[in-house]
Amino acid sequence: MKPLLLITGASRGIGAATATLAARQGWAVALNYARDDAAARALVEHLRGGGGEAEAYRADVSDDAQVRAMFAAIDAHFGAGRLRGLVNNAGVVDVAARVDAMPVERVQRMFAINVFGSFWCAREALLRMSRVHGGTGGAIVNVSSAATRIGSPGQYVDYASAKGAIDTFTLGLAREVATEGVRVNAVRPGIIDTEIHASGGQPDRAARAAPQLPMQRAGSADEVAQSIVWLLSDAASYVTGALLDVSGGR
Ligand code: NAP
Repeated sequence: MKPLLLITGASRGIGAATATLAARQGWAVALNYARDDAAARALVEHLRGGGGEAEAYRADVSDDAQVRAMFAAIDAHFGAGRLRGLVNNAGVVDVAARVDAMPVERVQRMFAINVFGSFWCAREALLRMSRVHGGTGGAIVNVSSAATRIGSPGQYVDYASAKGAIDTFTLGLAREVATEGVRVNAVRPGIIDTEIHASGGQPDRAARAAPQLPMQRAGSADEVAQSIVWLLSDAASYVTGALLDVSGGR
């Protein structure tokens, strides 16, 4: 039976690329998303068409009740005790703004989705994977950002700060569960060509930034997916608590 992987925010971008690669490498995949039913459905059909095992789950990861219900639905569909991996990938940015002009609701949403969502999903995954809870082990990969090293001034310090919390979450959780068969790592993508930039009002951000990047190009979702799937795999069996920059030297 294929090991089961849950990827949050998997209807497009880095999450969808990770689902596609993981399915090709023998994972059964549960895809989480927030709104885009059609995109999630299309990806499930695409993966099944290639011989993969996949199902999609609509849930807002910032909502603990929705996260619990999603994990229960995944247990029911795939069979309890099958989860071996979690990718905390769901994330949002907002339009460019200074800290002194950020509405409270914006900053709360930034932390609710990017940080709290990762906590709720990690908790549910550990309850299923940790040996302390009767599981047989697994791996968690958190998707952070190179923004944690830069701070994103004048753009989105709220987002960079939330991702900074994800780095620390990764370091702490990795050590907390290191003897329980669960590895916890993070990838820190640089500027990757996905739709997230359009959602922050800058659809051309990747193209505009490219000349200033050491490799003079943005990265692709698949390049990030490659590192995530490696960190999930047994090939990374002695890697935990690592923050892996996938940023083309940025
Ligand atoms: P994207 O193309 O905007 O995709 C975001 C995904 O997250 C979508 O599937 C979306 O679902 C889902 N999502 C949004 N809010 C959610 C919520 N509350 N609950 C569940 N799912 C939610 O983003 P991306 O560029 O692939 O980014 C993926 C991750 O990489 C994020 O954590 C991002 O911060 C990080 N990252 C990206 C870059 C970059 O340059 N692209 C750089 C560094 C880090 P719907 O489509 O259904 O709304």
